[in-house]
Amino acid sequence: MLTSVLSFTPEQAATVTEYCTNHSEDVSPSLKELWDRTVSEFDDSDKMSSPLQSATFKFLAELLRPRRILEIGCYTGYSALTWYEATINTRAEITSLELDSKMIAASKRTFARYGVEDRVKLIEGPAQESLQKLTGTFDLIFVDANKDGYETYVKQILDKNLLARDGVIIADNIFARGMTISEDCNPHLPEKVRPYWTANGKALQKFNTFLKNDPRVDVVLLPVFDGLTLIKLKPLLN
Ligand code: SAM
Repeated sequence: MLTSVLSFTPEQAATVTEYCTNHSEDVSPSLKELWDRTVSEFDDSDKMSSPLQSATFKFLAELLRPRRILEIGCYTGYSALTWYEATINTRAEITSLELDSKMIAASKRTFARYGVEDRVKLIEGPAQESLQKLTGTFDLIFVDANKDGYETYVKQILDKNLLARDGVIIADNIFARGMTISEDCNPHLPEKVRPYWTANGKALQKFNTFLKNDPRVDVVLLPVFDGLTLIKLKPLLN
């Protein structure tokens, strides 16, 4: 059987990622600048989506033409800026949730610098509380905050009917660097971060089981990036 994942060493994986990035749409100069600034300013910049993810998200958002976007986990605003650029035509309203005061300050600087405050709203505080206050429906929801919160967040979204009938939820880092699949899945994961990702992997196993068994949704878990799950409501029967 042809598997969905080719086997690469970390060096080969980096080469493949570079090849794919170079043969995909370029990100904008603003996104390039923000990427460079984030990498130089923050030690944990691997939290940021990659340029290839940004190109992928822009491609999808241009097809889906969302009018309202919700993002859980803003960091320095790289994905929020991606959603903004991808919805120039639909002028989508973008709501991003962030807890960390350092990242709140950083994302505010990003939104002011690139002049996107007309359509991007940052809600400060724990996502679980912010979600409780949201109303209406969202056409595209990007779940990218603390991994042990994913199950709660998606349950809240579904229970509160925050996902539009034809909307999609995109949840990032579902592989937890491989630890969701098994602890010996990624021998290259540095020991320093292994306990963190192992705990995340356990939380995401629970999340994946919840999603697979929830009768309200259709799910695909794609072996791209660090594991990307797409969720939509089941079609209504005629
Ligand atoms: N979406 C961003 C991007 O692609 O550039 C990256 C987001 S980063 C992976 C996750 C962010 O979620 C961090 O900035 C973190 O502070 C934030 N976060 C963690 N726990 C949170 C919570 N309980 N509520 C809201 N935000 C949270």
